[in-house]
Amino acid sequence: MAGEPRADCLFCKIVAGEVPATIVKESEAALAFRDINPQAPTHVLVIPRAHYPDAASLATAAPELAAEVLRLAGDIAADEKIVDPGYRVVFNTGPGAGQTVFHAHAHVLGGRGLEWPPG
Ligand code: C5P
Repeated sequence: MAGEPRADCLFCKIVAGEVPATIVKESEAALAFRDINPQAPTHVLVIPRAHYPDAASLATAAPELAAEVLRLAGDIAADEKIVDPGYRVVFNTGPGAGQTVFHAHAHVLGGRGLEWPPG
């Protein structure tokens, strides 16, 4: 069922505490932790605790939860002091765009210059 934990999902295991992660912030419905393979001085992942495979399915099924993920992403940027000069929030969606974990997650990246367009 939509939102239910998946036994084969790495991020559901992080939510359950079965896989370790460096958690930097949490709310009742969402969790933020440092990416294990950082691509910038700040690289934090924000995930809903409930399982949705990608950002679009999360926003369709649970729009308030999608908004909570974005709110937490903004809080992370403020905490990490990357609001000025700017930071990036990325939802890789689909294997061709680099999505490797099919539990919706926002990458919050900053602390260095960010090129546009991204690779
Ligand atoms: O967008 P994508 O699905 O590729 O993002 C998954 C991210 O999860 C990667 O940046 C990867 O480094 C990160 N990861 C992590 N901790 C794990 C496994 C993956 O932070 N245990």
